[in-house]
Amino acid sequence: MNPTDAIRPAHVEVSLGAIAQNYDAIRAHVGTASVMPVVKANAYGHGIVEVAQHLMNHGAPCLGVALLEEAIVLRQAGITLPILVFGGVATRQIPQFIAHGLMMAASSIDKLRQIDEAAAAVKTKARVHLKIDTGMERIGVHWYSAEKLLEASLSFTNVEVVGIYSHFANSDAADLTSAKEQLARFLEVLEFYPKRGLQPPQRHIANSGGILQLPESHLDLVRPGIMLYGVYPSKEVRQTVALQPALNWKSQVVFFKVVQPGSPVSYGGTWQSDHPVRVVTVPVGYGDGYFRALSNRGQVVIRGQRHPIVGRVCMDQFMVNLEWGTAYNGDAVTLMGDGISAQDVADWAGTIPYEVLTNINTRVPRVYV
Ligand SMILES: *Cc1c(COP(=O)(O)O)cnc(C)c1O
Repeated sequence: MNPTDAIRPAHVEVSLGAIAQNYDAIRAHVGTASVMPVVKANAYGHGIVEVAQHLMNHGAPCLGVALLEEAIVLRQAGITLPILVFGGVATRQIPQFIAHGLMMAASSIDKLRQIDEAAAAVKTKARVHLKIDTGMERIGVHWYSAEKLLEASLSFTNVEVVGIYSHFANSDAADLTSAKEQLARFLEVLEFYPKRGLQPPQRHIANSGGILQLPESHLDLVRPGIMLYGVYPSKEVRQTVALQPALNWKSQVVFFKVVQPGSPVSYGGTWQSDHPVRVVTVPVGYGDGYFRALSNRGQVVIRGQRHPIVGRVCMDQFMVNLEWGTAYNGDAVTLMGDGISAQDVADWAGTIPYEVLTNINTRVPRVYV
């Protein structure tokens, strides 16, 4: 039995070995390109500090996160690798980025000037990746206005431009027309460097979809997120790299009963049986990030058998119909794993595997194996 079972009979089991194997598989697939593991959103639910530490010891050259706060947590945990923060930089955050030695995304001349001044004030050089918007319309300078930014970026003495990047909106689709168009726009922006006889900084655009489906997008660096955790970004995507899921979600039966016909189960009475059935209770709910949308739709595995969730998922518990099956209090219940993938849960809940993973609350203890 697991030590955390003493606290609550529910936990997430994370295989750091599987994450390292996925990292190795990605490296082998991308050849000479460098790999920046993406550990934002608590490493897609797997635990940011543990995953980052393991990947650093495994030889990862750098890390990517979304927020300044995530990068600071990593620094405080002793992660010394270069870290790129993908999100936009607020002016008041700049001194913190510099103090923690983090790489910033910059997409305007004005921001570069602010970064330059803040770096000069502490007599250091700030490291920046220029962010180009090639069709996502999220952040970044538009590809058709990028040249002025690239030109200006050469003139700030306290800013070291170490990278230039863009982000795909549709690289996990079956139809890659728009992803190819984004890549073409990015390559056109990058022409700036050879035209001036300059060595370009590190060029990167590929997320998991790009890594799997567009080898020509690998460039100098790739940024795998979801595939690092052994999950494909979509059902359509070509599975050109073999991956191992790194996360199992486990609980236990805490209550067993027979429910009589005409006795509806859970809030709102949305399900009842027309014959006596065996129903068990599992102590996990939407307060743990197990979607309420799984009510009367999700399945779990008990004693090697799939069984359906009946009635509404509550904040802390849900019920499972065994029909005539057997289970005892304390039996293991698998919510994810044992043949149930993050994609299955996403399909039942009407969402994507990204949301299933990142939604698992910190209330659920993580156990590393
Ligand atoms: C989240 C993110 C990634 C990783 O995306 P996946 O689809 O999970 O591989 C890469 N780059 C940026 C800028 C991101 O925000």
